[in-house]
Amino acid sequence: MTNVLDFSYETRPVRVVFRPGAAVSATPGEAERLGLRRVLVVCGARGAQSARAVADALGPVCVGVHDRARMHVPVEVADVAVQAARAAGADGCVAVGGGSSVGLGKAIALRTGLPLIAVPSTYSGSEMTPVWGLTEHGVKRTGRDAKVLPRSVVYDPELTLSLPVPLSVTSGVNAIAHAVEALYAPDTSPLVALMAEEGVRALARALEAVAAEPTSLEARGRALYGAWLCGSCLGATIMGLHHQLCHVLGGTFGLPHAQTHTVVLPYVLAHNAPAAPEAAAAVARALDAADAPTALWELAGRLGAPRSLAELGLAEADLATAAAQTAGQAYANPRPVTADGVLSVLRAAYAGTPPTAR
Ligand code: NAD
Repeated sequence: MTNVLDFSYETRPVRVVFRPGAAVSATPGEAERLGLRRVLVVCGARGAQSARAVADALGPVCVGVHDRARMHVPVEVADVAVQAARAAGADGCVAVGGGSSVGLGKAIALRTGLPLIAVPSTYSGSEMTPVWGLTEHGVKRTGRDAKVLPRSVVYDPELTLSLPVPLSVTSGVNAIAHAVEALYAPDTSPLVALMAEEGVRALARALEAVAAEPTSLEARGRALYGAWLCGSCLGATIMGLHHQLCHVLGGTFGLPHAQTHTVVLPYVLAHNAPAAPEAAAAVARALDAADAPTALWELAGRLGAPRSLAELGLAEADLATAAAQTAGQAYANPRPVTADGVLSVLRAAYAGTPPTAR
């Protein structure tokens, strides 16, 4: 690596409002700025209460609440939501909830071109990306389209107070993973590197505080701030081995999204670190540690998160298939991706032993 600066960075038109209570106090104003008069609120069954509060705040501008979001956006679920938006004559959508709700809002935006406002309640970061995902016959397809990037994102730490600690921790490490891979992405840039390092620092500290005091609005705010930065990194760069591997483990083997990211991240970083020493050093600085993969593994342990794929229910017999599938696709990664390399990452992640460079 040379020290000569060479990068491109595209600023995307997203307006971000961040404040406690903003879901109710700011969403109507964001709809008005966009000139929306008939918005459909989308959410999952568990997030319906927050979504109804947003709907009430929107008053007559809200033409319905569609509470059928499901993990990984099954195509049938997207079809029904698109029909609901059309039947209601909606001119925009507001998605309230985690990555699944934002994902459903994006599916509506993709098909109809309706503008989307996101009000996230987890740290997934989807709200800051132009990436959509749809699952059909058990296979998840993803793509990039500027249409699905929310026009406005309303961050309200109060919405995240109800996020259980285990989910907060794994969702937070899922966000950290976006920043880690952005640091060594082929299209990284100085601004992305700043956001990534600060995002990891903010989230790692905040997660400890959230675990100690889940109702602390200050800790929740710091965590959501970190999630915004990490989500911005995800939206600005191409992800590598870590995200591909988690995609395979989730898509083909049904492993849970955020938990899988939490288990796998230290092992992929240990694997990639020799080929991406500056990225590993930035993560170590952010974690105030000598070795970034070990620090991530220890963080997960301290916060009571799962640390092995065995714990998540993966069968040892599936490791070779998962490795072959992950190595069988082409994508950028600092170290060339081989089935043997992925298998050694998977074996270590399966066992949950301390991560070491192999
Ligand atoms: P999720 O939205 O399914 O939420 C996980 C669980 O937490 C759900 O049961 C939900 O009801 C519950 N929940 C959410 N917010 C809550 C709150 N504040 N209090 C209590 N419970 C709450 O999952 P996620 O981890 O937020 O997102 C994962 C999904 O998002 C995956 O499908 C992933 O592929 C997608 N994703 C997409 C992108 C992108 O750029 N397209 C980025 C990140 C994630």
